[in-house]
Amino acid sequence: MEMNLEKQLEKLTKAKYGKSIKTCTDSQLYDCVLQLTKEQMAGKPAIKGKKKVYYISMEFLIGKLLSNNLINLGIYEELSEVLKKNGKDLSVIEEAEPEPSLGNGGLGRLAACFLDSIATLGLPGDGIGLNYHFGLFKQVFQDRLQKAEKNDWIEKNSWLNKTDTTFEVCFGDKKVTSVLYDIDVIGYENGRNTLHLFDLETVDEGLVKKGIDFDKKKVDKNLTLFLYPDDSDEAGNLLRIYQEYFMVSNGAQFIIRELKEQGRNLHHMDKYVAIQINDTHPTLVIPELIRILTWDEGFTIEDAVKVVSKTCAYTNHTILAEALETWPLAYIEQVVPQLVPIIKELSARVAKKYKNPKVQIIDAEKRVHMAHIDIHYGYSVNGVAAIHTDILKDTELHDFYEIYPDKFNNKTNGITFRRWLLSCNRELAALLTDTIGDGYKKDANELEKLLKKADDEKVLDAIESIKMQKKEALAAYIKEKEGIELDPNSIFDIQVKRLHEYKRQQMNALYIIHKYLEIKGGKKPVRPITFIFGAKAAPAYVIARDIIHLLLVLSEIVNKDPDVSPYMKVVMVENYNVSYAEKLIPACDVSEQISLASKEASGTGNMKFMLNGAVTLGTSDGANVEIHQLVGDDNIYIFGEKSDVVIKHYAKADYVSKKYYKKSPVIKRAVDFIVGKQAMKVGHKENLERLYKELLNKDWFMTLLDLEDYIKVKDQMFADYEDREKWKRMMLTNIAKAGFFSSDRTIEEYNKDIWRLM
Ligand SMILES: *Cc1c(COP(=O)(O)O)cnc(C)c1O
Repeated sequence: MEMNLEKQLEKLTKAKYGKSIKTCTDSQLYDCVLQLTKEQMAGKPAIKGKKKVYYISMEFLIGKLLSNNLINLGIYEELSEVLKKNGKDLSVIEEAEPEPSLGNGGLGRLAACFLDSIATLGLPGDGIGLNYHFGLFKQVFQDRLQKAEKNDWIEKNSWLNKTDTTFEVCFGDKKVTSVLYDIDVIGYENGRNTLHLFDLETVDEGLVKKGIDFDKKKVDKNLTLFLYPDDSDEAGNLLRIYQEYFMVSNGAQFIIRELKEQGRNLHHMDKYVAIQINDTHPTLVIPELIRILTWDEGFTIEDAVKVVSKTCAYTNHTILAEALETWPLAYIEQVVPQLVPIIKELSARVAKKYKNPKVQIIDAEKRVHMAHIDIHYGYSVNGVAAIHTDILKDTELHDFYEIYPDKFNNKTNGITFRRWLLSCNRELAALLTDTIGDGYKKDANELEKLLKKADDEKVLDAIESIKMQKKEALAAYIKEKEGIELDPNSIFDIQVKRLHEYKRQQMNALYIIHKYLEIKGGKKPVRPITFIFGAKAAPAYVIARDIIHLLLVLSEIVNKDPDVSPYMKVVMVENYNVSYAEKLIPACDVSEQISLASKEASGTGNMKFMLNGAVTLGTSDGANVEIHQLVGDDNIYIFGEKSDVVIKHYAKADYVSKKYYKKSPVIKRAVDFIVGKQAMKVGHKENLERLYKELLNKDWFMTLLDLEDYIKVKDQMFADYEDREKWKRMMLTNIAKAGFFSSDRTIEEYNKDIWRLM
């Protein structure tokens, strides 16, 4: 007989703290609710099947887990009631959970959404990654500059379950031992899979003295301290290879052990296992599996290569040249000499068959191209949005596409609606249930039923009023966290994502300058506008940090100017992460998706915003293209040059930003402001001048190319906001058409075309 939730919880509060629910503090209650939830999860049946997928990824940006796990277990409402009865508030208790710091941006968040969907669909599938103690740095602003601090998120009681699994991992100069931590992954009203996170037995947190600095050479102590440690020097590069090999060697040993426990014939490994390689970081799993099969399992190299090639599949996430990993063979030789003969063999086989230098694994400079290993020795290569896959086939990976046309396929990214609707916007989820029933929770396409209500004033007003409620809640949160007062009646224009020049936060900044100067000149907007940013810059990415500086400078100038601040505000929130995203996204009116066309592989932020009733202002890039197709011209604002034009500019190297600067007084005025008296007074000369020069002399991501069109379309969008009837219908249409972007759909496609689990 099951005890009711209240009794279970009270038993825990008594045992742990000798207190009743009523008298526990919020953090004590969090601790007890955590344990209760973990017990319920452990009681769920493990998802089983003949074949299982292992999703290997350097990052899992899972976010806080309490709310989602309660929703997926189906006990959120009940627990919420129990707590209320005892004078407690579940949403306050949720705040006590530290956010796991195991990911960086979209790629890691995708991995987390996928784990949720795999379990929700009842498919056997585990994640494999690393348990970083400090993970991605915590961002703080000091003197209007980004400072990086360590993010120590692991508490005594957490979602991590220590296992007794350990493996030895051999490097060229040392042997280390791993410890495996597991996190349970519960599907929505379904069973349990596992996220396996490997840690280093001898890891030493004490190595980190100041900020995020540590001795990069003490690999037996630092291996699982940070995600993406600074790689601007040789020791940093080597450390990345150490981390990657540590992850895949543990993963490979784990997978082979599971197969053996099940009595499987490793020669038919591909019938029981699919390994999805998330971007190139886990590529070494291919030579590592081949090594284990030939060294320990008596395989010929022929047989090992054959079966591994039928087991591994690769997802490409970017066409940015600097993000495609290539490592000097000498580095790999130093870190994992045992893989070098295998990589050389794999490379020689390719060289024998294909003379094209662009498809070689080891190039003339003796660098190893990781993606090329994946493509030659994996059975599937997928892009993450239709336009991205087309660019891979036509341009970036064209020579590979000619060799392996059948390996290439598209899997447009998705997001889990459990987190990005049911959990972060309970009000909207409740309205949807009232309006179209709750079938959409299991079948996201049912959201289209909402279209029938496009003229229903009551529904439209309810959507508008939920948006207002969420804006009020965000304004209160930002007031508390950032100390800036926002007007919920203003338009909330939000750009939150990693800071990168290709995402063009700098273009948004130039718009803000333009608007500021217009208001100073007496041209006031009908309704105030609030510009909100959130973004971390890689600590070694100088220009990205300069852009953050500019945004913080603009925030200071605009918000403190009594002529302007009644009409606009600028906020850069500190330490943007999943928890912040869950507060920002439901409160957004205008979703900024303004990357240079061809550069954003998919984007998933764009999907989260759409699902929560924001209207997209975007370029024809990544999944924006598919959003556009779904909602039609009338429910999205598209601007800027298309990808074919951009790709031609790169091919001809004929883009000259100064030309645009000289031609347009509006552009010139905005760019000059960066180094003008006002900005210089608030900001730092060095940062501002460097950014100014970058924009004028390089502007590698063509900000000035699209700036005028951006201003025009954005102004139109703000004007249209005043047509409330039109805007409300746009909100409704975006929500109704978001079903396609459920990661359940994405995972069904992965399963049907790549994994074939059942
Ligand atoms: C979804 C998400 C991202 C990815 O955003 P894009 O706009 O697609 O780059 C990055 N960080 C967090 C915290 C997210 O939730």
